[in-house]
Amino acid sequence: MNRLRQELCDANCAIIRRRLAVLTWGNVSCRVDSSRILIKPSGVPYETLTAQNMVLVDMQGCVLEGALRPSCDTPTHLEIYRAFPQVRAICHVHSSYATAFAQAGLPIPPLGTTQADSFAGAVPITRQLTPQEVEQDYELSTGRVIVETLAGLDVSRIPGILVRQHGVFTWGSSANEAVEHAYILEQVAKINFRTLLLNPSAPLLPDYLIHKHEERKHGSSAYYGQPSDCCAPSLSRQRGCPPASSHSTPGSGSPGHDLPPQYPG
Ligand SMILES: [Zn+2]
Repeated sequence: MNRLRQELCDANCAIIRRRLAVLTWGNVSCRVDSSRILIKPSGVPYETLTAQNMVLVDMQGCVLEGALRPSCDTPTHLEIYRAFPQVRAICHVHSSYATAFAQAGLPIPPLGTTQADSFAGAVPITRQLTPQEVEQDYELSTGRVIVETLAGLDVSRIPGILVRQHGVFTWGSSANEAVEHAYILEQVAKINFRTLLLNPSAPLLPDYLIHKHEERKHGSSAYYGQPSDCCAPSLSRQRGCPPASSHSTPGSGSPGHDLPPQYPG
């Protein structure tokens, strides 16, 4: 539990380091087990966050451990966890470019391979909440409209969503990965914003390229990044490459496509 608390504290602080939020905006949570999550406390400045003030709540949002109130977005996080058991962590931010799409009422269309490396298609956007939904339980309704919008989608291939006129929720297999997906989503939104400024009719990325980028990174025969059993030379041989020098560095052969090593492969 202490390790999880520290990982979650670090991931919350990464929101600021990645410039995904200002002030106390944004929050990250992670699943502890099937009946409990840890989440950032509400309204606490990032510079004073500690592992110990992460709040432990049950799946109904009742505080189990912690002196501080949990994030007011906790019911939204919980609704996503209840709907998708494979989601291990969730990040919520109002990052500028992605939130601009959310405020414009637009999904983020798949315009290039940068997006396809992490999102197998458009980043979806929720419908507007009704006055009744906002009045009854705003944060829970936000979770419900997210789950409703994701119906039929594979959340492991679409690791994020825009909430209309609000912001961004992303998720992953760890708190760190959930924040990385928010960072990727923001970069993709920025690229797409500029693309659409240059050419409002920019074509969508063809399905075969979306599929190719998804498969090479996440599919059963994925070859992006470094294999865990350190068999890079045999991969090179498979592609007919000459033997690599013992002094070569991983990824140096394809500088145009490799992401920094902190990204999951
Ligand atoms: Zn928000």
